[in-house]
Amino acid sequence: MPWITGKENEESSLRQNYIEKSYGCSPPKALFHALLPGSLTVEAALALPIFLFAMIMILFLFRMMQVQYLVGNSLDRAAAEASLFGGLSQKEAENLAKAMFYKELAVQKCPVSGIELGAAGFSWNSGKGDSDFIDLSVSYRMRFPLNFFGRRSLSFSNSCRMHRWTGNQDGAENREGKEWVYLTPTQNVYHIRRDCSHLKITIQSVTANGTIQKKYQPCGHCVRKKKPGAMVYITSEGDCYHMKIDCSGLKRTVYMVLKEQVKTKRACARCGGK
Ligand SMILES: [Zn+2]
Ligand SMILES: [Zn+2]
Repeated sequence: MPWITGKENEESSLRQNYIEKSYGCSPPKALFHALLPGSLTVEAALALPIFLFAMIMILFLFRMMQVQYLVGNSLDRAAAEASLFGGLSQKEAENLAKAMFYKELAVQKCPVSGIELGAAGFSWNSGKGDSDFIDLSVSYRMRFPLNFFGRRSLSFSNSCRMHRWTGNQDGAENREGKEWVYLTPTQNVYHIRRDCSHLKITIQSVTANGTIQKKYQPCGHCVRKKKPGAMVYITSEGDCYHMKIDCSGLKRTVYMVLKEQVKTKRACARCGGK
């Protein structure tokens, strides 16, 4: 008997006894094979496909994430590049961005083979029609490598919205050719030239003697109630002395405004008279 030539265990000999008892003689050959201990093989035959299915799906998940990232990245780059072009209508800018998107996909080596219909599988959704923005919205489907409970593919979409390089056009035409002037919060004159010497601040370092302390006030920022050191800083126009060279009181704020807005101030004697 070939099936007991190997390691015979108690169970199989018992089974043989039972079979021989119930049949009265040796059982038919086919029954022998059916009763061979094959439980591990059946288990493996069931579990291995499930395990492989799960592994393929997990690997596919990473592929989906990769494609989605690359598509989103290509959209961003394409929109950023297209938004720099001036003088284009909104439609032209969007078409340019779409063309750049396909170029970016190739540059970034996006695996479009995973997408249904490949690179032709991207369908563009219509934008919001805002001329200041480039709106790109793309949807596509990715095929599952296996039939996933009756589903063959999964739908994805990416979108990107970027402001076009149009600048701030509010009343810009009206402002062209108008005169701009410079002024500081403390002076009651305006300056035609930004490099007027009156807009510059001249800092001098002087020894802190009694005359300085009588003529100038201690700076509220850097001196306060501290005793000044050997040297203090003063400006030709200011009325404070400072202990620190980087004190905010030693800096000057300059505003650039339209000349018509400063009717209450007069022109600087040095630069305004021309
Ligand atoms: Zn001036
Ligand atoms: Zn100060």
